[in-house]
Amino acid sequence: EPPVLKVDDLAVEFRSRRRTVNAVNGISYSVRAGETLAVVGESGSGKSVSAQAVMGILDIPPARITSGEIRFRGDDLLAMSRREQRAVRGPGIAMVFQDALSALNPVFTVGHQIGELFRAHRKASRGEAREKAIELMERVGIPAARERVDAYPHQFSGGMRQRVMIAMAIALDPDILIADEPTTALDVTVQAQIMDLLSELQRETGMGMILITHDLGVVNEVADRVAVMYAGSIVENGTVDEVLAEPLHPYTKGLMASMPSLESHGDRLHPVTGTPPDLSAVPSGCAFHPRCPLARFGRAAAPGKDCAADVPVLREVVPGRTAACHYSEELEHE
Ligand code: SF4
Ligand code: MG
Repeated sequence: EPPVLKVDDLAVEFRSRRRTVNAVNGISYSVRAGETLAVVGESGSGKSVSAQAVMGILDIPPARITSGEIRFRGDDLLAMSRREQRAVRGPGIAMVFQDALSALNPVFTVGHQIGELFRAHRKASRGEAREKAIELMERVGIPAARERVDAYPHQFSGGMRQRVMIAMAIALDPDILIADEPTTALDVTVQAQIMDLLSELQRETGMGMILITHDLGVVNEVADRVAVMYAGSIVENGTVDEVLAEPLHPYTKGLMASMPSLESHGDRLHPVTGTPPDLSAVPSGCAFHPRCPLARFGRAAAPGKDCAADVPVLREVVPGRTAACHYSEELEHE
């Protein structure tokens, strides 16, 4: 079965008069029906920007998609007119944001905001839209939905607002749901409830999911595959089980070491220290080299594998597993 969504060699830059920032440098991934791909990295790694490009909320200056394809059910969205793109994305790809309070409109009731989707896309009457809104609120676990359909966003708790946003996202039965740090703003017990809700909805609907997160503990619990991003590039990808059992990139290892919930791996790892690079001045060679405990330079490096001079390409290190590091083989069976 072909993937529902296939991103190929996607690049995004931000341009101002003074500088150009390559936020995403030619990344590729795909998502199949029912599958969850986690895109992991620190802030500024390009994980949100790439998802916003897929969602079509990024192609306005100063952001520019400079290359690549975004194929949804086989058709390249980037080759379509804006109008055609909207017709495909509207019902097909939906997004849940980190901050529900700013994503929802404060001056309309939640019932109105959910119902509008059915008015706009399904030509529902006011009454039908209201019933649909109540149905969806119930489906995402909002208690007393019929009584609360006319309440405003600020009258809901953070967790309940996130459920409202999820209700809006699944309203039109999307094939792909993009969830960008959907639980970061919530407290820990509510985080778990929201992740459970997303997994449950995914099982019911068979939608594919892109989960953007910095939390490898969440990845471990809900994702099937993982793509690790650093400085605008994917530096490792594979199945979650394989990547977490045996990371093939030092950055992935470092992220794992900083996750207490993965502590069985923690003892022999070094957490990542330092800060992610300024994307307008990315380090030469491997962008990770200033922070990498394995980096080798000059005569200490193998020929063509100087970490400050030679850019490591994403390559298949073991069957089905790719990483962009000159020395991945040394991490195997470590
Ligand atoms: Fe570290 Fe060099 Fe590998 Fe980059 S290529 S991750 S600097 S060892
Ligand atoms: Mg982000």
